[in-house]
Amino acid sequence: MSDEMEPDQTILETRGLGKRFSIGTRFSKEGRRVVHAVDNVSLAVRRGETLGLVGESGCGKSTLARCLVRLYDITDGRLLFDGNDITSQSLAELRPLRRRLQMVFQDPSASLNPRRRAGDLVAEPLRVHTRLGAAGIRGRVAELFELVGLLPDHVVRYPHEFSGGQRQRVGIARAIALNPDLVVLDEPVSALDVSVQAQIVNLLADLQEKLKLTYVFIAHDLSVVRQVSNRIAVMYLGSIVEEGPSEEVFSAPAHPYSQALISAVPLVETTPGGRRKRIILTGDVPSPLDPPAGCRFHPRCPVAQARCRVERPALIEHRAGRKVACHFPVADGSARP
Ligand code: SF4
Repeated sequence: MSDEMEPDQTILETRGLGKRFSIGTRFSKEGRRVVHAVDNVSLAVRRGETLGLVGESGCGKSTLARCLVRLYDITDGRLLFDGNDITSQSLAELRPLRRRLQMVFQDPSASLNPRRRAGDLVAEPLRVHTRLGAAGIRGRVAELFELVGLLPDHVVRYPHEFSGGQRQRVGIARAIALNPDLVVLDEPVSALDVSVQAQIVNLLADLQEKLKLTYVFIAHDLSVVRQVSNRIAVMYLGSIVEEGPSEEVFSAPAHPYSQALISAVPLVETTPGGRRKRIILTGDVPSPLDPPAGCRFHPRCPVAQARCRVERPALIEHRAGRKVACHFPVADGSARP
C-alpha cells in the first residue's frame, strides 16, 4: 500500500454477513439441510490496502469472496460498498457498481471463455459498460495488455495458447479494464508454478500502486498473504476468528487456530534451540452442516476449557487494531503451555 493512501477510509464493509445454502431435497432421506458457509462476518476493507483472507480449504473464503462482489446473494447481514448498502440490490441496480468492484479467479482456464480471443475477452467489459467505439476499445485493450505485461500480438491468441501465468494476466487485464476501486482476488496464484507466482504477485503490487487499487487477497499460502497484505483476517468454519495488521498477526497470533496455521509456515522466528515450534492440530475440520456447539474450534483446540464447549466467543477487540474470537486469547502470541 502506498503511504499516500488514506488508510482509514472504509470502501467495503460487511456487517454480520452470512451465506446459507440449502442442500438435499425434501424427498431425500434427511430432507433439506442448511449449510452456513459464511456466518456473521463483520469486516471493513480500507481504501488502498490489501486485506488478506486466510484459512484452510472449505473454511468459506471463496464463498465470502463471491458474496463481496455479489456473485452470490447474501442471506444474512449487510454489505456496504463506499457507504451504499448493496446487500439486496438487483442486477440492474448493481450494474454501475460492477465497474468499481471486480474479481480475479483462481483458475484462469476456467474463467476465460476458450472460444474467444484474448483481445475480445478484455474488450468485453468495455463493450458492456462503456460508450467507447471500436477504435477506443482497441486502444484501451492495447493499453491494458501493456499494463499487465502481455505483448500487442497476444490479442489474437486463444486462452489455450497462453501459459498459466499469461492466462492470469489476461484475467487481471479484464478485471482492471473498467478502472475498478476494489478487486477481490480469489487464490490468484494458487494454480501457478512458484516462479510464476512471484511474477504475478509483483504485477499485482505494481498495479495497486499505479491504479490506486484496493485488494481483498484470498490464499491458502500464508507466505504469499504475509508478503502482500497490510491486514489479515483468519477464517475458520465460515467465521472470522482473528483480524489485525499482517505483521502483528503473523509474529504474535492470539487465536489458537491462527497460531497453528502460522506455525506451519517457514518463519524467521525460531525457538532458542533453533527449531521452529510447530503446532499440529488433531481431528478433522467439522462439517459446516453440523458445527460444534460453543466455540466451533473447541474439538481441535489444544487449550479448550469447559466454557468453550458451551459459549461461542464473539470477535472482539483484543488490543488496539486486533480482534480475536476466543475466550482465552494469548496476550503476546507466545506458545501456550
Ligand atoms: Fe480454544 Fe476456547 Fe479460544 Fe475456542 S474459545 S479457540 S476452544 S480457547
